[in-house]
Amino acid sequence: MNNPQINIDWDAIFMTMAFAAARASRCVSRNVGVVITQDNHVIATGANNTPADTTKCDALFPPKTDPKFNRGEHHEFSNDHEVHAEMNAMLSLLGRGGYDLRRATLYSTLKPCANCLKHIIEVGIPRVVYAEDYDLGGYGPYMNRMIFESDIQLEYKPILNEDLLVKTALDINHANEIYAQIIKNQKTRQ
Ligand SMILES: [Zn+2]
Ligand SMILES: [Zn+2]
Repeated sequence: MNNPQINIDWDAIFMTMAFAAARASRCVSRNVGVVITQDNHVIATGANNTPADTTKCDALFPPKTDPKFNRGEHHEFSNDHEVHAEMNAMLSLLGRGGYDLRRATLYSTLKPCANCLKHIIEVGIPRVVYAEDYDLGGYGPYMNRMIFESDIQLEYKPILNEDLLVKTALDINHANEIYAQIIKNQKTRQ
């Protein structure tokens, strides 16, 4: 079965799944999806949401496009009550008895925030792949030092493309937003 002619792009496959996982997010501001794998098998998925069985963001706030959407109020709510996709995925493993993540890869549709990243480092995940980079300025000197010291591998891989969008049936407005940002980022990097 091991055909050397077939070149499987596991990163693309798992990032596609991460975009699919993002669809479970009920945050009105951003939908982030995460897949954690080991030896090319998915061991956990996550999306940004309030904890299981509690009132979701979209039941409390109007859509981001609604003029009544209050960015500051949502931001405060989100900080205190919404669990980021990375944490959601890692905590789901803890809730199921735990898992040694020291050989795992974490795929996220969005670059992990500093808070998630320190927890990813703490559990020992050695590799993170993300599809969208929201700030090209990076993490700041302390986090950069932590990244260097921990030896974590952070890969920005904008593998999202039209084909992937069709496969994941991603919300087209959100997808276009991400895609435009990716193109912009690529141009900035050249
Ligand atoms: Zn939200
Ligand atoms: Zn985060």
